[in-house]
Amino acid sequence: MTAAILTDLTKCVGCQACVWACKELNGLPRGDDARALSATTLTVVERHGNVNVRRQCMHCLDPACASVCPVGALHKTPEGPVAYDESKCIGCRYCMVGCPFSIPKYEWDRRVPRVQKCVMCYAELVSRGRQPACTQVCPAGATVFGQREALLTEARHRVASEPQRYIGHIYGEHEAGGTAVLYLSAVPFDQLGFPTTVRKDPYPRLTWNVLSNLPQVVSVAGVGLIGIWWIVRRRQELAATRPPEGER
Ligand code: SF4
Ligand code: SF4
Repeated sequence: MTAAILTDLTKCVGCQACVWACKELNGLPRGDDARALSATTLTVVERHGNVNVRRQCMHCLDPACASVCPVGALHKTPEGPVAYDESKCIGCRYCMVGCPFSIPKYEWDRRVPRVQKCVMCYAELVSRGRQPACTQVCPAGATVFGQREALLTEARHRVASEPQRYIGHIYGEHEAGGTAVLYLSAVPFDQLGFPTTVRKDPYPRLTWNVLSNLPQVVSVAGVGLIGIWWIVRRRQELAATRPPEGER
């Protein structure tokens, strides 16, 4: 059982309620430019011709970001969302290199930057049996939450019953080995900014190839000692940026 989101692009009215609900839950600024994914915009509604395209982390079934993370800061939760633990993150940004959908962003302007991406409201909502903030607020039923198998059944039913409305491709059913965020569309996905060269195999089996092409620091034996120093220093810096207990 995997929690999932089905976004039907033929239903999206572009109101951006999902974008603002995401920002509110995550304490992110509303005033910034919300037209592209960034460290302060974790879901976005892009305009491609007449089509509104909501984008977010795909919550891959076998996530490359988690497989390349050397300290386990990103992980696939039992419920399905791919979550992030900033206290473990060492800021190496391998997840940004490994993700086939170019989703994770980095807080370049913070003294101790974190990686930012949609975590499907895991800690606050999904782990407590509730649906994410974005799907709660969609007034058009364009983006809905459920179990992946049920949503795939629903998506196949829509395609079969209205073939004039949909192309016969459920994006995310097979891409990157399957994702927990699925899309339906009337327009081919390559015309909507979706990466269409994404392989059908899970990426983790490829990611060590990615890592092997990264700077040689990865393969040097001394990386272990450097890594330990890096983790300790980063945790000290993170602790220093947190307010004292009584002020939280
Ligand atoms: S889309 Fe990218 S960031 Fe999201 S789970 Fe997949 S690999 Fe990780
Ligand atoms: S809330 Fe629903 S209709 Fe509005 S932009 Fe998001 S997906 Fe589209």
